Amino acid sequence: MIVAEVVAHQLLKRFGAVTAVNAIDLSIGDGEFVFLLGPSGCGKTTTLRMIAGLEMPTSGKITIGGRNVTFLRARYRNVGMVFQDYGLYRHMTVFGNIAYPLKVRRMSRAEIRRRVGEVAATLRIADILDQRPDDLAGGQLQRVAIARMLVRDADVFLMDEPMSHLDAQLRGHMRAELRHLQKQLGVTTVFVTHDQLEAMTMADRIIVMRSGNLHQYGTPQEVFERPDDQFVATFVGEPQMNILSCTIEEDGGEPAACGPGFRAPLDRAWLGQCQRAARNHPLRLGIRPEHVSLRETPDDEHTIPAELIAFEATGTENLFIVKCGEAEITACMPRHASARFARSEGSRYFLRFDPAWLYLFDGESGWTLAHAVGSRSASVREPRA
Ligand code: ATP
Repeated sequence: MIVAEVVAHQLLKRFGAVTAVNAIDLSIGDGEFVFLLGPSGCGKTTTLRMIAGLEMPTSGKITIGGRNVTFLRARYRNVGMVFQDYGLYRHMTVFGNIAYPLKVRRMSRAEIRRRVGEVAATLRIADILDQRPDDLAGGQLQRVAIARMLVRDADVFLMDEPMSHLDAQLRGHMRAELRHLQKQLGVTTVFVTHDQLEAMTMADRIIVMRSGNLHQYGTPQEVFERPDDQFVATFVGEPQMNILSCTIEEDGGEPAACGPGFRAPLDRAWLGQCQRAARNHPLRLGIRPEHVSLRETPDDEHTIPAELIAFEATGTENLFIVKCGEAEITACMPRHASARFARSEGSRYFLRFDPAWLYLFDGESGWTLAHAVGSRSASVREPRA
């Protein structure tokens, strides 16, 4: 069996003055399903194209299964690709499209028929093999493009936003189907997306990129619960994490992150480290909207008076966007648990931050200084140099 881990070392790509990919290191295990996630223009597609051999790096090294392929052309790498626009030939039937990469390899007609029949059955498109791409719906086109990638027994699969043309319902369905297929085939797969839901629900691991830089490489749970920096914390998670400028105060023995209009008690273990960081840099407190809850009356000295400025109902959840002094904070609560709260602008409540789910960021580098994840036990680290 072919072992096809993909390793990139100090991979750099410049287009003139633009650094599209800035000396990134990554290691994708054999059979792993890895997502490149980040905003438009962050270098995802360029990274994928360098792995494919469609773009040559400015410097750095890429190996696939231990073989140095850095400057090897695409056709010698045995990688299969699916593009955003599928790249199907309109004048060919579905059979012709799927068979094409095998014909190029001069495979016998019998073998081609056997292989196309097999992938068509796997992807449930055996009944449309005689049709042409123009006659097909989005979900079928995507299946045909995937079938053409699968038919070649590639060592690595590369997919560039293959679901971006599908409607929301079909995307949900294809997410589960693609994940299942990838696990069933066990082929190392790299998938580009700017849709965090896609990455969070399908990936074994996610590479989060911005402006050509790799910000974090971890499992969906790691990037969500233990973001390495403020960018990852705010890019992953919907609605976005609240970020509040703060200072650390120690009042009556209990340390707290304080800003105009709020006060959040902190674990004592954070104190020394954060105070040291705060001597030079501003600090920011991060809390996800689902860890902010509303109260009608103040429970204790940590509840914060708030005034509603906007309300949104998503169906299963209610979003309350409130003002606490200078700070604007979003609270996200299950619909049934928050039905009793008034929704008109100017309504007044009290907020409570769950102390078990707080983050502190260095306001200059954005680096995560400390976080509490699901308990009061905090993890603290040195600020980034
Ligand atoms: P998107 O999601 O919009 O496709 P991306 O994250 O895939 O974005 P890339 O397409 O890799 O980003 O582009 C990264 C940067 O490199 C961008 O600034 C882009 O304009 C630039 N770039 C990409 N390809 C070229 C090219 N062929 N010539 C010049 N600049 C390029």
